[in-house]
Amino acid sequence: MKFGTKAIHAGQEPDPTTGAVMTPIYQTSTFWQASPGKHQGYAYARGKNPTRSALEKCLAELEGAKYGLCFSSGMGSIDAVVKLLRPGDEVITGDDLYGGTYRMFTKVFAHFGLVFHFIDMKNPENIRKHITSKTKMIWLETPTNPTMQIIDIEACAVIAKEHKLILAVDNTFASPYLQNPLALGADIVMHSVTKYIGGHSDVIMGALCLNDEKLYTELAFIHNSCGATPGPMDSFLVLRGIKTLHLRMERHCLNGRIIAEYLKTHPKIDKLYWPGFPDHPNHAIAKKQMRDFGGMISFSLKGNKQEDAFRLASSMKVFTLAESLGGVESLINHPATMTHASIPKAEREHAGVTDSLLRLSVGIEDVTDLLADLKQALDA
Ligand SMILES: *Cc1c(COP(=O)(O)O)cnc(C)c1O
Repeated sequence: MKFGTKAIHAGQEPDPTTGAVMTPIYQTSTFWQASPGKHQGYAYARGKNPTRSALEKCLAELEGAKYGLCFSSGMGSIDAVVKLLRPGDEVITGDDLYGGTYRMFTKVFAHFGLVFHFIDMKNPENIRKHITSKTKMIWLETPTNPTMQIIDIEACAVIAKEHKLILAVDNTFASPYLQNPLALGADIVMHSVTKYIGGHSDVIMGALCLNDEKLYTELAFIHNSCGATPGPMDSFLVLRGIKTLHLRMERHCLNGRIIAEYLKTHPKIDKLYWPGFPDHPNHAIAKKQMRDFGGMISFSLKGNKQEDAFRLASSMKVFTLAESLGGVESLINHPATMTHASIPKAEREHAGVTDSLLRLSVGIEDVTDLLADLKQALDA
């Protein structure tokens, strides 16, 4: 089956008891047992709930995976992956990470004796220099947030296999429609389902998809033991959102391209980050590993003044000034003070997150209105 068909049908069949075409919201915490231990596959909803099971199956199919696990947030899913490790273990990760991931690594797990190396992964050979006998995992994001670096997943997978490291990829920015890391050799794919997969800015959720049975057993154990599992209503909302993922992504990409090309010629724009430009440093890799280039665009302003960025962000009328991304509506965000405020200034500036940097999540509105909005704000 092709992607759009899976998005609508995978994991979902008419309900056997009533024939309901849509997966019911099984709003129950516990399940009847005929005699102790004798149940119909469901005992207690932290471990398993039928609405969530349908969603986990659907997500796994979209990523070409055997297994899916849904969490109550993207962070909850990252937390579970890190808990595969033991004190003293080392992780190699990128120098341009989602702010919350950076915060969890440095402010939570560093206290448990885990060591994180934040390195430039644009050239994967760089990874080799940081591998020690303690290295257990490579954690990467591509495209990165917010400077849209592209990391070569296949090249990282070769290095991970050579050294028997777990390769985990945060695939939030691409969505399973644009990129499937498992097919490129990754071991675990992570999603903030909150973003493109949910797609309507009304649910917080995370997910992991993977093929390895042993790794799945360990993660499912952590999932149930630590308990960051989502409820049935949220699972239903995401199942509903996924049905249009392929259509939404097509429009995000189309609108993203038109807006990136408009910004490219604007005299007030300094740096512009979008992987679809032929002069993007890793454009060839983006072309190789992604179906299209997505609707995430970042740019800085000439003069690099925070007040200019603030003025622009506040004067947008169709774009909403808010954190998050991947919903049907267009958003604008000031990473340095919003999504990436927890990263020290020197580090974030090194990664290109300067005072005037703004990030757009281009929605699926009529692009004429989005262009007019940017024009009125930039030319004011
Ligand atoms: C939002 C986000 C997360 C965290 O997900 P939540 O659902 O907000 O917990 C992780 N990685 C990336 C790239 C994100 O954009």
